[in-house]
Amino acid sequence: MSFTLAIVGRPNVGKSTLFNRLVGKRLALVDDQPGVTRDLREGVGRLGDLRFTVIDTAGLEDATDESLQGRMRALTERAVEMADICLFVIDARAGVLPADEVFADILRRKSAHVILAANKAEGAAADPGVLEAYSLGLGEPVRLSAEHGEGMADLHAVLMPLA
Ligand code: GDP
Ligand code: MG
Repeated sequence: MSFTLAIVGRPNVGKSTLFNRLVGKRLALVDDQPGVTRDLREGVGRLGDLRFTVIDTAGLEDATDESLQGRMRALTERAVEMADICLFVIDARAGVLPADEVFADILRRKSAHVILAANKAEGAAADPGVLEAYSLGLGEPVRLSAEHGEGMADLHAVLMPLA
């Protein structure tokens, strides 16, 4: 296992869809430690010739607006600590939302090694959101469609030098 990749981002951007695509049926373990780690799912990721540990941050889907910020901050900080690389996912169809800015701030403060992914990017409807992603100041977004399996070669290309 060459590196650990944490998939982070606000609810509903497609983190788990991407996790499932990378892990397939090779789900390794569910961490049942108390606290925020309950909401971290770990598996063996596979992308071309790359093998790595992948962490999905979950459990935020049922959070209310008031509880969401604190919980997602704690969970994301924990995932960042466990990971060598963070894959920060936004929804290209929705564009950059205030909640995405919160994640970008966390990742910047933690000095994490971040790859920005603009998901749900199948089709031209996602083009404005992909361009908006540059405003997060995290470099060029990798254009992905986790659901349709598009952009996986581009993701491989950015991960390979880091493996
Ligand atoms: P999470 O909350 O970030 O883990 O997001 P999920 O993986 O649960 O996905 C949230 C919703 O977005 C689901 O309805 C998915 O089917 C949908 N979704 C995920 N990836 C894509 C994608 O690439 N394109 C589109 N159009 N929808 C997607
Ligand atoms: Mg999820």
